[in-house]
Parts: sequence; C-alpha cells; structure tokens
Amino acid sequence: MTFVSALPFPEARAKVLEITRARRVLPGVERLPLLECAGRILAGALAADRDSPPLPRSVRDGFALRAAETPGRLTRQGEVRAGERFDEALKPGHAVEIMTGAPMPEGADAVVMVEHTRLEDGLVDVPAAEAGQNFNPRGAECRAGDTLLLPGMRLGFPEIALAASVGAGSLPVYQRPVVAIIGTGDELVEVGEPVLPHQIRNSNAYSLAVQVARAGGVPRVLPVAGDTVEQTAAIVEQALACDLVLLSGGVSAGKYDVVEPVLAGLGAEFFFDRVLIQPGQPLVFGSVRGRLFFGLPGNPASTMVCFEVFARAALELLGGAAESPLPIMRAPLTKPFRHRAGLTRFLPAWLDETGGLTPIPWAGSGDIRATARANCFLVADPDRPEYAAGELMGVLWR
Ligand code: AMP
Ligand code: MG
Repeated sequence: MTFVSALPFPEARAKVLEITRARRVLPGVERLPLLECAGRILAGALAADRDSPPLPRSVRDGFALRAAETPGRLTRQGEVRAGERFDEALKPGHAVEIMTGAPMPEGADAVVMVEHTRLEDGLVDVPAAEAGQNFNPRGAECRAGDTLLLPGMRLGFPEIALAASVGAGSLPVYQRPVVAIIGTGDELVEVGEPVLPHQIRNSNAYSLAVQVARAGGVPRVLPVAGDTVEQTAAIVEQALACDLVLLSGGVSAGKYDVVEPVLAGLGAEFFFDRVLIQPGQPLVFGSVRGRLFFGLPGNPASTMVCFEVFARAALELLGGAAESPLPIMRAPLTKPFRHRAGLTRFLPAWLDETGGLTPIPWAGSGDIRATARANCFLVADPDRPEYAAGELMGVLWR
C-alpha cells in the first residue's frame, strides 16, 4: 500500500519540518521556578534588567591606572576588592590596587596585571599599558532592556544562568506535548512477563519513552496493539487524545502490517511512507484528525534512528521550539568503510578522544546491543559507496 513515492533523506526531513511548522498549534504556557525550567522551551522573551557589567569592571588582579602615565613608577593610592567601590578619583601619578571583578576607580583607563608589577614602599613599577586593557566597560555584555533570550529557545545551563544573572527567579515555558507510544505486533510481550522462544519484549516502548522525554515530551505508553485492524484502530483512537502519536512496527509490506490501512481507515493524510535510509526504510508520516503521527519501523535500531532524525524534530517544534537542529558533523574514519549506494545510512559507530570514527559491527536493524555500544551514528552518503581510512564521514551524536 503505497501513498507517496519513497523520499531521499533530506527531502523527508524537510517535509517533516515544513508540515509540522505549518500545522502546529503552540502549547499552553506555564511559569516555573528557574531550576525547573532546565530543558524546557522558553515561551516569552527575557530582557536585561540593567547594563552588564553595570560599572566598568576589572577582569584581572593588578593595578588600575592611567595608560598615559606608563611605563613608570606610580604611588599606590589604596585598594578596591570585588563587592566594594572606590569612592575617590584616581590621582595623577597614582595607581589603585584592584581585584578581579572590582569596579574601576574613576579616572583609570587600564589595568596592569599584578604579575607584571613590583610594589615596594608604597611605590609600584608598571610596564607600558594600553588604554582599555584588562577591564570591561559598562554595558560590554549588554544594555538594560536588551533582549537576551527569545521565545522558542531551549533552556540549558547557560540560559538558566543568564536568567539568574538578570534576576528572573521564574520563567514562562511551554507545556510539554504528550506523546502516545504504541507498540504493535502479536509477538510482543511486556517486560517482566514470561517470554516464549517465538516472542520478543516490547523494548521499543522504552527507547521511545526515553527519547521522547529527552526531546521535551511527556511519554504515554499505551497497550500493545495486536496485528489486527480492530485492535490497532482501538488503540490509535485512544492515542488521538495526545499531541503526537508514535507507532512502532506494522509498517512494512507484510500481510499483518496493518498500521497504514488502519490510519487510512480513520481518514489519515499521508506525507510519505518510505524513506531511502537504513535502518528504517518503511517510515510513515501523516496526520489524522489534526494529530501528526509517525509509523516507525519496528526493528529496534530503526525505531531509534527514525525517532532521532525525524520524529524528534516534529516533537520539538510541537513543543514550541523555534528550531530543531540535526547537527551532522564530520570526522575521519579509522578504517575503510563501504556500503551499497542508494540509501543514507545511520550506523552505530564510536568517536574516540582523538576524533577518529570507527564503525561498530552490527547484526542488522534489530541489533540493540551494537547501538548501545556506540556513542554516535556514522552517516553514510547514498552517493558514496566507498570511503578510505582517513576520509571524512558524517557523524550524528547520540
Ligand atoms: P515489523 O515492522 O512489525 O515487521 O517489525 C519488525 C521487527 O521489529 C520484528 O522482528 C519485530 O518483532 C520487531 N519489533 C516490532 N515491534 C517491536 C517492539 N515494540 N520492541 C522490540 N522489537 C519490535
Ligand atoms: Mg509487526
């Protein structure tokens, strides 16, 4: 059952971004204490409450002085520490001992590092200095009222620190989208249940729940759908209460792969149902009753990769993120690599401390262990069947 022709990887990804951007309704907003905002998406702009630094401030321990009076011997006028201010103006022929973070005395235009000076009997020998050296002028980082963070940015540690630095004890963030996770297949049993030789455990619900949470969503794992139209349709109906629906398995061409027929029966619109990647060729992206859904291929490595390179973007955008970058870096291979051209491949690999990239042997798209042993995926170009040792290859951190 083919609805759309197979798409190359870049086109399929562009489609996910385009459709999600066009159809998303931004989530509601909640205000949270600063530390609870880590990893969340900012829902309003953050502005500077004052100039930063609010006063010209030394960035070194040393002597604040007039550059025009250097080199030479100056008289020590006193000292100023971080947390204090120096109330007198700097007198001609003088220098004020200053600590990192302390405000500059009025009249000083440079700081000489203490390591480059010699202090004896209240007199200090200083080398030549340039005006402006070793201090930050008032407002060097920002001016009061400047916009520091925009809505749609993810709040990591520097953003949280920035909010703290302007006195914001709480921030408005978007509510997290709820994501339905549906495993499909008569062979699936839940973890903790007895498992027969012809059965397998529903591990995809776990990888997806972790990936969803990491991408800012709230995972809601639904019961496994058996391989019948009725069972699958009933569980998909439940899932439509969520903001995004992820199904795994049941999207290949097998007789019991009922996911597409079920969604078609519910009136779904399909944007693609095959992508030229491995792992994960059969991959369905569509919309049903105003909800976006992905039919992810059931093999565990395929599910993980397809979530990372497609569904994560949709989830982050639905969660209010302005962007969902997929940074594919480049690293030199430690040994030759070859693959059959035609598909973009995302295969388990190890990026070592020297920057070298080594493929990890794997037993195919079902090999969870190989994926767990990897710290990244190598990204093989569909037009490049052979790479020599030392050649640069794509790397996607995991
Ligand atoms: P399917 O796409 O349904 O044909 O599934 C492809 C392969 O992935 C089969 O070997 C399934 O047993 C396996 N599989 C499907 N769903 C899951 C799941 N939730 N957890 C682990 N393996 C799965
Ligand atoms: Mg199946």
